[in-house]
Amino acid sequence: MAYKISDECISCGACAAECPVGAISEGDGKYVIDADTCIDCGACAGTCPVGAPSAE
Ligand code: SF4
Ligand code: SF4
Repeated sequence: MAYKISDECISCGACAAECPVGAISEGDGKYVIDADTCIDCGACAGTCPVGAPSAE
């Protein structure tokens, strides 16, 4: 299991700054989560202004 960022993402970068393991990086048009690095802490979901990250 890992969190995923939906197309709602507005590329603000807030989640990347909060991720404790550095799993989030800027992708093409939205931010993306590296599933192998994500530890399912939920910090990104709690930080995102548009609710884009969610557990799969
Ligand atoms: Fe990073 Fe936690 Fe979000 Fe996974 S759930 S991407 S570890 S902030
Ligand atoms: Fe996208 Fe939300 Fe992360 Fe901002 S906090 S980059 S809107 S997923």
